[in-house]
Amino acid sequence: MRNEGLGSWPARRARKTPHRTALIHQDRATSYAALHERTTRLAHALRAAGIRRGDRVAYLGPNHPSYLETLFATGVLGAVFVPLNARLAGPEIAYQLADSGAKALIHPSSHAVLVDGIRGETDVRVRIVVDGDYEERLAAASDEPIDEQIGLDDTCIVMYTSGTTGRPKGAMLSHSNLTWNAFNVLVDQDVATDETALVSAPLFHTAGLNMLTLPVLLKGGTCVLVEAFDPGATLDLIERYRITFMFGVPAMFDQVSRHPRWAEADLSSLRMLSCGGSPVPAPLIAAYQARGLTFLQGYGMTEAAPGVLFLDAEHSVSKAGSAGVPHFFSDVRVVRPDLSPAGVGETGEVIVRGPHVMPGYWGLPEETAAAFSDGWFRTGDAARTDSDGYVTIVDRLKDMIISGGENIYPAEVEEALLAHPDIVECAVIGMADEKWGEVCRAVVVARQGASLDPEEVLASLAGRLAKYKIPKSVVVVEALPRTASGKLLKARVRTLHGSA
Ligand code: ATP
Ligand code: MG
Repeated sequence: MRNEGLGSWPARRARKTPHRTALIHQDRATSYAALHERTTRLAHALRAAGIRRGDRVAYLGPNHPSYLETLFATGVLGAVFVPLNARLAGPEIAYQLADSGAKALIHPSSHAVLVDGIRGETDVRVRIVVDGDYEERLAAASDEPIDEQIGLDDTCIVMYTSGTTGRPKGAMLSHSNLTWNAFNVLVDQDVATDETALVSAPLFHTAGLNMLTLPVLLKGGTCVLVEAFDPGATLDLIERYRITFMFGVPAMFDQVSRHPRWAEADLSSLRMLSCGGSPVPAPLIAAYQARGLTFLQGYGMTEAAPGVLFLDAEHSVSKAGSAGVPHFFSDVRVVRPDLSPAGVGETGEVIVRGPHVMPGYWGLPEETAAAFSDGWFRTGDAARTDSDGYVTIVDRLKDMIISGGENIYPAEVEEALLAHPDIVECAVIGMADEKWGEVCRAVVVARQGASLDPEEVLASLAGRLAKYKIPKSVVVVEALPRTASGKLLKARVRTLHGSA
């Protein structure tokens, strides 16, 4: 087999475990043999439509077997897969399609109107509708194996970052990057051949795809694909399929634990709960511990495919709040601005190096050059390390506020504000100040039905935070601007609420 990349995985799995179930979607099972055949047919269909090595093929839609078939089929041809966030608005999708220069787009009919509205602004020439002509095209295509020479360093995916700190950038992930990330998961977590994973996190995010689905498919396990996350349905699916492995962000696990059926649901099949994107709050850890379950936690980013730091179940309580230690094949340092190592407890920038880190951003040579120093990827995240080497993520460096020469990380002030019973959301931003250079402003959202008194909010922080960290003003707003995946858009908060 000359294909070393992801496109060869279905064929390799079909050779080893043809009859095992690879995917389950709406009670329909796809075996590895069938996944291999369907992937081959789709590759032929894409080739017949004019797709060649290096061409970009985008996918827009919720979790569905055709998502993974498209990923693997592009890998068979040496084409590049471009997953689009199905929650984005038309202009955002048009930007990513145009920026990636995608020639083909695969989507369900639910997104047809949106695609009709933007297609003219893009290079998309081939359009395949999942619940339309997709099956016909597969049926009409050959199932003859395709033997293209694909190397591990070829680009597999262009995946856009969340766009939290600016316009989303396309991270070019090679077959090698994705393979080494999967190896990191397999080394650090006990992923078994008989794993049954619940994939309710979106596949268009790097974590749902690379921390859960790809490692499970590499091992020959089963992925149950769910189109939209729902806490009650999650409990039903855990029981019905005897789910062993799940991935989610803290908010998803929180909703599940608040569901009326939580206490009586049969969770005995669950072995691994993997949680990433932000630290797992202590009450959430306690709620799951009461049911005999612990979390695996992690920190990462699209550019690192994505796993960087990993906190195992054994340390989930003793090192709560930390994101753990580097994955097996990942090197991490916390450094000062001159790249010298920060001391224990000293806050610095996280930098990462390893075979899972992208070679660069698609079409952005300057941003790529700025993102690397001496071969290390600069994450832009601030963190500190304890004496055992466990790393705690503090905040994004870009959001740091400097007041009277002191560094303030807004996340710490936000955490203190969220302890107020009537504050449900908040953002802390820096305001220019003649005396101090910058001072903090709190932008807060009140709990429904509650009214917030700015003076009282500030008084509640006294004694809990150093004086210089306490905001000088409070603005009460209806809602805060967030990305499609719910991340706070700090720059937008500064534009909207940062003027005096
Ligand atoms: P953009 O790069 O476009 O501004 P983004 O950084 O939000 O967007 P992602 O790659 O989706 O895009 O997110 C990675 C970032 O998420 C990390 O750099 C970090 O700031 C944050 N993050 C991820 N995991 C954790 C964690 N466990 N704890 C705290 N922050 C985390
Ligand atoms: Mg980022």
